[in-house]
Amino acid sequence: MRRFPLLLLAARIAAAQFPPGYVDPKPVLEAAAQAIGTARLRCVTVAGTGYSGAVGQQRESGVNIDWPRGDLTNYVRTMNWEAGTMKEEFDRKPGANPASWKYGLGWKGGTPPQRATHQFFAVNGKYGWHKDGGSEAVAALPEDAERWQLDLWLNPHGFLKAAAKPGANPKAVWRWELGESGRDGNTTIPEKVTVVSITMLGRYRVDATINKENMLQRLHTWVPDPVLGDMNVEHEFTNDSYIDLGDGMRFPTVWHSHQGWDDNFGAQAVTAGHNAFGGKLDRIRANDCPDALAVPPVVREAAFANEVTSRKLAEGIYLMGGASHNSVAVEFNDYVAVVEAPLDERRSLAVIEAVAKLFPNKPIRFLVNTHQHFDHIGGLRTYLHIGATIITHAKNWNFYNRDVLNYAPRTLEPDMVSLWPPTELAEGYQYETVRENYTLSDGTRHMHISYVQPLAHAEGMLMAWLPNEKMVIEADLFDAPAAGPATEANRALRRQVERLGLKPEWVVPIHGRETRWSDFLRMF
Ligand SMILES: [Zn+2]
Ligand SMILES: [Zn+2]
Repeated sequence: MRRFPLLLLAARIAAAQFPPGYVDPKPVLEAAAQAIGTARLRCVTVAGTGYSGAVGQQRESGVNIDWPRGDLTNYVRTMNWEAGTMKEEFDRKPGANPASWKYGLGWKGGTPPQRATHQFFAVNGKYGWHKDGGSEAVAALPEDAERWQLDLWLNPHGFLKAAAKPGANPKAVWRWELGESGRDGNTTIPEKVTVVSITMLGRYRVDATINKENMLQRLHTWVPDPVLGDMNVEHEFTNDSYIDLGDGMRFPTVWHSHQGWDDNFGAQAVTAGHNAFGGKLDRIRANDCPDALAVPPVVREAAFANEVTSRKLAEGIYLMGGASHNSVAVEFNDYVAVVEAPLDERRSLAVIEAVAKLFPNKPIRFLVNTHQHFDHIGGLRTYLHIGATIITHAKNWNFYNRDVLNYAPRTLEPDMVSLWPPTELAEGYQYETVRENYTLSDGTRHMHISYVQPLAHAEGMLMAWLPNEKMVIEADLFDAPAAGPATEANRALRRQVERLGLKPEWVVPIHGRETRWSDFLRMF
């Protein structure tokens, strides 16, 4: 029997803790925290100029098209990791809808247009709120507040502090990284990096890429999204963007963030939107920690209902309201068609239950989808689940088929389709795609669906027309009540109606109440 020296044996035992591919995260995290003085930085304020991308509000689909952008000026963000608070203030051109939108994570249609230039967003623990100019605080939805809280920790110091918390459970792997062709050009010499993953807020798996200079260069995680499922969120920082704040503390000045995969080339996903936030925030103050950011009582007490109120518009036609987005149920001889599956699965299940009560013996056979914006398609999968065929514009098919109505597991918030995937999903007969015109008819009831052209609000926009009831059903081309002056989207709706020679009495919007066509015309 050969005897190994004691030292070698000890080394083998230590190595055995980390199987091939893995390394000890502890020294990597310690070196990274040392490199930027994380132990000494309790809070930080960064200021400058940036932009935010309207995630899920793409105007066109296909490759090389990004989320629409809004400029943020006088941007100031204070992050206090000890208190668990973050405050952001900036100026943005008013008029955009909705006001409660930040970087896209919080984008919800149906909220009133932003009125004032100055915008305020804050999170304290699980509470988030927003102020439009001098307005009262408006509570953010709990899921948005949680993401703002997550955002507090999605920066180099936040990550390293979170990694030291109980339950973070760090794990590390190593890899050679060649870089990103768009960012780094034709690199040929790979760099060895370590990627450390931790658990944040008890459920988000966040990983950080730490390079050979011990600098944190990329943060990555997934957040649940009704449209995309586990949605990619990442922040990138370059070594040379870190500046010295004194006392060994350093902080990056250039922000570059993605929501959704960086899918410029459409290789795996086709959303073609990813840049969600960016800017030069190079006026930085360390450890000037502000007073406690108190949660306003109205925010603490806010309740979020999910009631469906149905109102009869005509025989067999119901507006399914009660939320920021309506759906419209239309009865045919043997089935029901629903126009729009907005928001998320929770909302769609509630609407489906209400429709099934109104028409107990008829299946929901068709779901008519007006356009591809995320707040209007969050329930498409729910209608697929209950067996409805989705009527949508042909331009949306590639995106829906690859990114939305797919088999991909949803780990953060599993939905009906991911838990009970129906067989049709593999066979592809869950769509009817429309190019110009499409008609549903049982000989008595008719619904004519047409492509709104030219492009207004979003590419691939459909509207529905009920000739017997003289009703137009549309989304985002007109939100009631009529306010005026007429917008580009309003003009597109009017042009479409006139082009088809329709004589409507009513316009039934997905946002707001049914409105007389004559009142709509008054805005012009
Ligand atoms: Zn909308
Ligand atoms: Zn829209």
